[in-house]
Amino acid sequence: MLHTSISPPTATDTVISLENVGKRYGNFAALENIDLQVRAGEKIVICGPSGSGKSTLIRCINRIEHHDAGRIVVDGTELTGSIKNIGAVRREVGMVFQSFNLFPHLTILENCTLAPIKVRSVGASAARETAMKYLEKVRIPEQASKYPAQLSGGQQQRVAIARALCMEPKVMLFDEPTSALDPEMIKEVLDTMVGLAGDGMTMLCVTHEMGFARQVADRVVFMDQGKIVEQNKPDVFFNTPQTERAQNFLRQLVH
Ligand code: ADP
Repeated sequence: MLHTSISPPTATDTVISLENVGKRYGNFAALENIDLQVRAGEKIVICGPSGSGKSTLIRCINRIEHHDAGRIVVDGTELTGSIKNIGAVRREVGMVFQSFNLFPHLTILENCTLAPIKVRSVGASAARETAMKYLEKVRIPEQASKYPAQLSGGQQQRVAIARALCMEPKVMLFDEPTSALDPEMIKEVLDTMVGLAGDGMTMLCVTHEMGFARQVADRVVFMDQGKIVEQNKPDVFFNTPQTERAQNFLRQLVH
């Protein structure tokens, strides 16, 4: 049963809509009956135990994985097998992974300009200008001519965020963006994400950083065994979790 005190969004401001979404790997249901509506500008933190389907859920939103039941609509485009629709959705959705996935043979600047030039047909100098704007935003412009291996993990992840922003997406998806980082680098990446949230970006973040969730999230979505078990405002979720599963999850985080 879904426990929530969040009022449903109106149809007009919904950017992402998942209706009854399911995903199976063979006989195993990784996602079941997922209903999630995301408003423009909303920040959602997705949490839950390992293996609960968090990563699968956000990977379905830009079709890295394909759902096999229900509907996913992003900015008015339904994700189906249509290559045209998949391309349209991917142009609007930026994604940042746990492992930064930068191209090792390209400089930081080239990492940031490649997709805008190839996919959005932006001119080279305009692409460079945009790239520098976002590298400044993630406070790393001085690294533009270096290669990824010359940067720390935290710096590489900030480049990955800048690279996604260079496509001027409407939505940013984060899949455990700080999990591969040393503790001293986590804050610089979270600070960048807090800044992005302050700019009004629509964000879905799978993260174990509950401090970030408290500070930034409009809504915390708690998953277990492929289902959304509970979703609520952070203060309600953390202070008065409604389900035993969420209570157990939060208790384990404390210890
Ligand atoms: P989480 O992000 O919450 O840790 P995932 O979405 O990564 O969970 O995985 C959900 C479940 O689906 C896990 O049990 C995982 O083992 C399974 N799973 C994920 N990807 C695959 C795959 N490609 N093939 C088979 N099972 C998978």
